[in-house]
Amino acid sequence: MASLTQSSVHLEAGAAHLESSAPISLLNLTHNYGDRLALDHLSFEVRPAEIFGLLGPNGSGKTTLFRILSTLMVPTGGSALIQGFDVAHEPNRVRQQIGIVFQARSLDIKLTVGENLKHQGHLYGLKGGTLKRRMEEVLSRVGLLDRIKDTVETLSGGMQRRVELAKGLIHSPSVLLLDEPSTGLDPGARRDVWQYLRMLRDEEGVTILVTTHLMEEAEHCDRLAILNTGKLVALGAPAGLKSEIGGDVVLFETANEQAAAELSVKIANRFIVSPTVLGNTVRLEREQGHKFVTDVVEAFPGLVEGISVAKPSLEDVFIQRTGHRFWTEKEEK
Ligand code: ADP
Repeated sequence: MASLTQSSVHLEAGAAHLESSAPISLLNLTHNYGDRLALDHLSFEVRPAEIFGLLGPNGSGKTTLFRILSTLMVPTGGSALIQGFDVAHEPNRVRQQIGIVFQARSLDIKLTVGENLKHQGHLYGLKGGTLKRRMEEVLSRVGLLDRIKDTVETLSGGMQRRVELAKGLIHSPSVLLLDEPSTGLDPGARRDVWQYLRMLRDEEGVTILVTTHLMEEAEHCDRLAILNTGKLVALGAPAGLKSEIGGDVVLFETANEQAAAELSVKIANRFIVSPTVLGNTVRLEREQGHKFVTDVVEAFPGLVEGISVAKPSLEDVFIQRTGHRFWTEKEEK
């Protein structure tokens, strides 16, 4: 570990610190696994002290991007900078800037909360009174100072996730990377984690990047990058992305896929619109959706088995940009 660090520092000594005011910035970031393209020329910036979400279905490239930003993997093309340092060429500099909270538990459950944090602090060269003060600071930040002497295995899943957060923050990083922070937590614990993330953003100015495949979690983010098969398909605040969809989202359910295709063509010809067929459902966006469904049902009696009119969701943003559902039928619960 030590020799790797030293040689890396040596290698990095001549590397230029690129100027970028954004805490995270990607330029044409690309990654191939052999002939599989996992990230396809991604370019965007994360702003200071925002909670930024990477939202995408399975296989969209979230883990690949997370691993590249965490300096665990070198991209095959383009660049990613964290606080101006290149993840591929200046990994040690980047590691000083970032705190990482993985999806899988990284705590030693047989040790106390304090012992876990102490080991992490030592990895970053913290010791003595400085480390003790920092441990107390981060534990009070996540509301667990009174549990410092308890073994991790005696804590609830939500509390353990908060200790993971404290561990990721021990070296005062300016950027926090979290992989699927809500996984395995009940709704109350999820709310807690998000409350602490907002506090870190507001009171400490930490820039937070989370990966997620949950729409509900994405709604908590200040801004989102929505990924599909390694490509950026949407970028913006959740409310802004949803408001770009005109009017209501209207769904017509039919008996089967063939009926849906037939209804779609009929609607398209009659009302001069471009519906999307999703299985046995015809979907389109329309002002005054309630009036429109009445017109359709009257025009084509017998084809429509069910209707729904709703305000656009983030899933609608995904469908509009990609032409297909976020969830496959198998994944949908
Ligand atoms: P996500 O985290 O959004 O599910 P991943 O980054 O894991 O997406 O995967 C993106 C794409 O890269 C997928 O097509 C996946 O099958 C592929 N992939 C991921 N890891 C590897 C690997 N080690 N070798 C080959 N292909 C991989």
